[in-house]
Amino acid sequence: MTTMSAETTKRALLLENIDAGAVDLLESEGWKVEHETRALGEDELIDRLDGIHVLGIRSKTEATARVLQQAPDLVALGAFCIGTNQIDLSAASQQGVAVFNAPFSNTRSVVELVLAEIISLYRRLGDKSHKMHQGVWDKSAVGSHEVRGRRLGIIGYGKIGSQLSVLAEALGLQVRFYDILDRLALGNARQCGSLEELLAESDIVTLHVDGRPGNSGMFGEREFALMPQGSMFLNLSRGFVVDHAALREHLESGHLAGAAIDVFPEEPAGRGDEFRSELRGMPNVILTPHVGGSTEEAQTDIGQFVAGKLRDFCSEGSTALSVNLPELLLARRDGTHRMAHLHRNVPGVLAKVNGILGDHGVNVEGQLLGTRGELGYVLTDIVADYAPELVRNLQDLPETVRLHVLH
Ligand code: NAD
Repeated sequence: MTTMSAETTKRALLLENIDAGAVDLLESEGWKVEHETRALGEDELIDRLDGIHVLGIRSKTEATARVLQQAPDLVALGAFCIGTNQIDLSAASQQGVAVFNAPFSNTRSVVELVLAEIISLYRRLGDKSHKMHQGVWDKSAVGSHEVRGRRLGIIGYGKIGSQLSVLAEALGLQVRFYDILDRLALGNARQCGSLEELLAESDIVTLHVDGRPGNSGMFGEREFALMPQGSMFLNLSRGFVVDHAALREHLESGHLAGAAIDVFPEEPAGRGDEFRSELRGMPNVILTPHVGGSTEEAQTDIGQFVAGKLRDFCSEGSTALSVNLPELLLARRDGTHRMAHLHRNVPGVLAKVNGILGDHGVNVEGQLLGTRGELGYVLTDIVADYAPELVRNLQDLPETVRLHVLH
């Protein structure tokens, strides 16, 4: 594996039509950036990674163990999206490749759609618009309501759930939430002690849980039955958490007054493919093709966010919000050199690193160590000029995974 030094001109390969803002940001740092609109298959990707330090992908390029093992120059991988399922994270860690993603760049987009849908459900906007397109002028207030004062029950009070809480209160909704973890209740929101409590006292139930395996089918017949007569249901989290057959029954019986669903247990592979669901054709049911987070603003934000993380890693060794490495952030001090040493997390490595520095008569000006799983990561700032042997000695430690001399 190569060592990245301060003199190295960084080369990046960005695939899958990553936002132009990311290219601009990295080029403004003096990097050479190649970009492609498409995803690359395994063999082509391996060929293209020769001499590439940083790879940017979205969801379609698979960063497999084989790819990562055959890319000795690669030091960082940016997933310009939210999920990282397309990356073999364990192989990335073994190779000392830092992985970054954009965990909250589309949070606001999802929240805005949820709010739009809550209002739309209470005004039956989908049905009214559909009738107008068919030439039917159905001017009536029956079945249309304001949302002000209604009780919003949020299940999963993470990034999306908590931001929804804040904006929903501004609309006059009374917010309560249920989360498996204790969460800080924002504004006037109230945490419910159980899912049952939340379901019994919410006019609107909206799911924002994560995709952990235990959440598969977590919302079905029992949970729908606990919701009050005439309530609304939304799911913009994961398709597999909801039993759609049970949802259909509760809509058909009139127990639920409407639903908005953005994610499905089975989603078509590509644009234009037929969408199949038992929820098609139902009144006051808003169906959207997994677009909760899909806005141009979110794409721009993802580009800036991930490119910024890749730049900070290559220039400062910063691993804040890294998906796989120990998270370290050490403020830069003028006039120092910084060494970033990634190693196997076994006892005594820090002593060995500092022993080598001491042997070369080099004083440590600043140092930060973090560990995560099988990896340890230490950032060390030194003032003195150093001999090339010092770098070699650090590289030659049996525990060394990667060494970068950053500035
Ligand atoms: P997050 O990890 O910040 O929050 C998830 C929260 O759910 C956590 O607080 C967790 O403790 C809680 N939780 C998990 N299981 C639970 C359970 N069974 N009951 C109660 N609480 C539970 O995630 P986030 O960024 O807020 O995203 C939420 C969901 O939205 C994720 O599933 C994500 O994939 C999805 N999402 C969808 C879109 C879209 O386009 N529709 C876009 C972005 C995110």
